[in-house]
Amino acid sequence: MTSTPVGQQIRVRGGFAALSRGSLIFLAAGAAAIGVYLLLPDDAQDVLYVVIGLAAVAAVLHGARDREEGRLSWRLFAAGLLCAVVADAISGFYEIHLSKEPPVPSSADVFYLASYPLLIAGIFLLLRGLGAIRTRAAILDAVIVAVAAGMVQWIFFVDPNLNTSLKPFTRGVEMTYPTMDLLMFVALAQLALATGIRTSGYRLLVVAVGLWIVGDELFGLSVDDYTAGGWLDVFWLGSYVCWGAAGLEPAESWRLARDRREVPRLTRGRVALLAAALLTVPAVILVEHFWHGHNLHPVSIAVGASLLAVLVIARFAGLVRAVDTARIAERDANLRLRELDRLKDDFVSTISHELRTPLTSITGYVELAREQADAETDAYLAVVERNASRLLSLVNDLLFVARLQSGRLELDYEHVDVPKLVAESVAAAKPQAAAANVELRLRLAGGETAVRGDRRRLAQVVDNLVSNAIKFSPAAGTVDLTVARGNGKVTIEVEDHGIGISESDRRRLFERFFRTQGALDRQIPGTGLGLYITRSIVEAHGGTVDARSVVGEGSSFVVELPAAP
Ligand code: ADP
Repeated sequence: MTSTPVGQQIRVRGGFAALSRGSLIFLAAGAAAIGVYLLLPDDAQDVLYVVIGLAAVAAVLHGARDREEGRLSWRLFAAGLLCAVVADAISGFYEIHLSKEPPVPSSADVFYLASYPLLIAGIFLLLRGLGAIRTRAAILDAVIVAVAAGMVQWIFFVDPNLNTSLKPFTRGVEMTYPTMDLLMFVALAQLALATGIRTSGYRLLVVAVGLWIVGDELFGLSVDDYTAGGWLDVFWLGSYVCWGAAGLEPAESWRLARDRREVPRLTRGRVALLAAALLTVPAVILVEHFWHGHNLHPVSIAVGASLLAVLVIARFAGLVRAVDTARIAERDANLRLRELDRLKDDFVSTISHELRTPLTSITGYVELAREQADAETDAYLAVVERNASRLLSLVNDLLFVARLQSGRLELDYEHVDVPKLVAESVAAAKPQAAAANVELRLRLAGGETAVRGDRRRLAQVVDNLVSNAIKFSPAAGTVDLTVARGNGKVTIEVEDHGIGISESDRRRLFERFFRTQGALDRQIPGTGLGLYITRSIVEAHGGTVDARSVVGEGSSFVVELPAAP
């Protein structure tokens, strides 16, 4: 059951290789019919031409039936193709049965010229539905392409016909074709630039429109040599076949082609197209110089080039403005964030300060009260004292961090005997270790091992590491403390055999407020400030702190400080 939508997704995403069966069969039959067409005698050719065209109309109409989105586009395509087929039938009738070219204008022209607006409207509607043309940038891109292609059409297809002896109406009809092709080309460029998924149906439509334009342009270049039934017809017939096959692609294929971006991205294709538009000016000048030496169009080229320059500058100005706006918004957001961060630090600092005085007074008076209390009251007061001390140490940590954040860490340097410092920490942690049934083992290097530093702050570092090691050890566990000296450094190592820390957590261990999931799951009390403070103090002393760990086996924290001279 579940394999159907997935299978369909893969099928419609994979470009031409993933065509649906219906359109594949249609394409194969169309290609065979075109091959046969080239071999047939004139009058049979005429019939086959119309049959292929009608088959395309039928395929597009059939496809339009089961589409909810874009159904109007497909109906317009069917109507446009039908007009073209009627026109083909009329001109075929002239050429084969009356053995002459249809007059200009003839009823064939009426149908041909009606087909273009229908097809072009269909393409633009489809593009709108796919979300491709909504923004100013996309419209500017379309106009840039239109100006460049318009200049080419004017210079090579329209202007040369202006001075012929044709009647103005006839001339008007003849000039409408290049104009329609121009609009068709703009539509093709927009199709080619849309950034949704290029589904197979979508690609087929691009090919169909492309073949149509190429056929028209080649016809425009060699009108005088054109004979019905020749190779040039392959382009128009090919266009019919591809259009029909595109119509047979399932509706899903078109839904996936939707462009979901708000602003058209400046893709490589889009840049290439803008560059090509700019390069048409020198290209036209060169072509005129080498092939039309006598018939130059300086005014048209100057107008086209100026328009292009203004439009391209407008497009890039829009881009630069968008980038600037984004940058300013980002800067403002950064400033606001920094301000909020500062306000938060101020708030924490003020509150902590206000809490510290009453907490200090509580612990002081509880201590006094315990001296005179009976056994039961003393037990209660002990709980009060323990909790007040915890609160006080939290408040002290917060205040310390606020001071670190504002860069106000002051150190009182003195000569510090490290083994003595660590032994004092171990002695102070004895009650905690006893309560957790953890054994503390101290191994000290012989001789004098000292650093220059702030005794109180360094004691804070060791206390922190020892307290963590006890907290994260199992009952009846052991914590090993080692002090060593070498290479001008004093090393303090605190090693436990507790829960350990994963590699990904290890990288974030020293961040403010970071706690591992293991600590949270086991509800081990803490704030995630200890290691941040530890690292700040160690680094302020010119040292480093590092953690090594294996999950489930234990952790080892190593502090290295420059040894006193
Ligand atoms: P706290 O211990 O208050 O949570 P710390 O900054 O000291 O804050 O530690 C941050 C986190 O690092 C702890 O919450 C814990 O997840 C992890 N951690 C620290 N030391 C150890 C250790 N020895 N074993 C396992 N995890 C540890």
